[in-house]
Amino acid sequence: MREPYTLSWVTPSLAVGSAPMNYDQLDSLRRQGIQAIMNLCAEFCDLHWIESGEGFEVYYLPIDDEEAPALAELEKALDWLDEELYLGRKVLIHCRHGIGRTGTVLKAYLLRRGLGHKLADRRIKGLRSQPANFDQWWFLRKYGKTQGRLSIREPSLERSQAVDLYPFLADWERVARTVDARLESGGHGEPCGQANDHCCRDLVHMGLAGAVYLHHFVSMTFGRRDREALQARALKGCRALREATRETGGATLGEAVAKAYRAKDILCPLSEMGECQALKQRPLACRLAGVSGELRNEVESWARRELNQCSAGLWLAFAGRMETGGPLRFPLPEVLAGKFVQTFFHRLAGM
Ligand code: SF4
Repeated sequence: MREPYTLSWVTPSLAVGSAPMNYDQLDSLRRQGIQAIMNLCAEFCDLHWIESGEGFEVYYLPIDDEEAPALAELEKALDWLDEELYLGRKVLIHCRHGIGRTGTVLKAYLLRRGLGHKLADRRIKGLRSQPANFDQWWFLRKYGKTQGRLSIREPSLERSQAVDLYPFLADWERVARTVDARLESGGHGEPCGQANDHCCRDLVHMGLAGAVYLHHFVSMTFGRRDREALQARALKGCRALREATRETGGATLGEAVAKAYRAKDILCPLSEMGECQALKQRPLACRLAGVSGELRNEVESWARRELNQCSAGLWLAFAGRMETGGPLRFPLPEVLAGKFVQTFFHRLAGM
């Protein structure tokens, strides 16, 4: 049977097309695997609500017909797209006819992923979705100049083509379980996040494995509204972190920044009524809060070694090459706000 909605797949997880105009077409999108939609139609101000009501994750970036998007708004939309694809969701980008606006945003995304104009043009050749006028073409020319070009390896668009996250997630869980058991047998029976929230105003950092694990947990278990509320709280933390960094002129990993952040008295977005909403998934730093002496040294040095190993494996799987420049560390608010994905790609593009 012919589907009532025709998708054009750019990659196995990214498709483009026109605006779905009835419930049959929305059902058809679902049958074809679409889980998330980037809607670019300024002319239909209710369509994104309908799409969202039908259970799709929706990002609404209204662009007038024949126009190019505002740069800052485009960056936010592409952050969202990166994140959806990273989580393994299948995404549709559409405007009304699936031509100019869709083609412009699609090509901007390919440029941002480091393909450069030539490869990006090759990738969209044959699609209806193409920049359709001078303004859109000029916008992409300017946008392309701001984007890094991946050069060591053919840039890949999605992690789902190459990386199975589960072995890494299982590895992270094994380390967390071992740490908890060791702390309990060592007589440390009051974990932060459960018995108290002493660590929940501190600036907590984690490596790539911890960030991927926590982010994956939140994406898979929190409903859309809860996730949006969590993200709003996390963005407040990101702003506080930026201020603390500016005030102290330090690096985000430094002691001075941590102290300035703590002084701002921002509660962790995951803390509710003194309870951690991700107790089993919380970072190593939270598990070790309040633990000192021999026990801490022993557990921390073992766990860091294991988790660094796991992060290095994830990096290699995502990037196709070894990590250089020291392991990345991500502040908790940036992980929960999804911004750590950008930090990762920026490091990748700069290598
Ligand atoms: S992750 Fe949990 S334990 Fe850690 S700071 Fe946040 S609420 Fe507290």
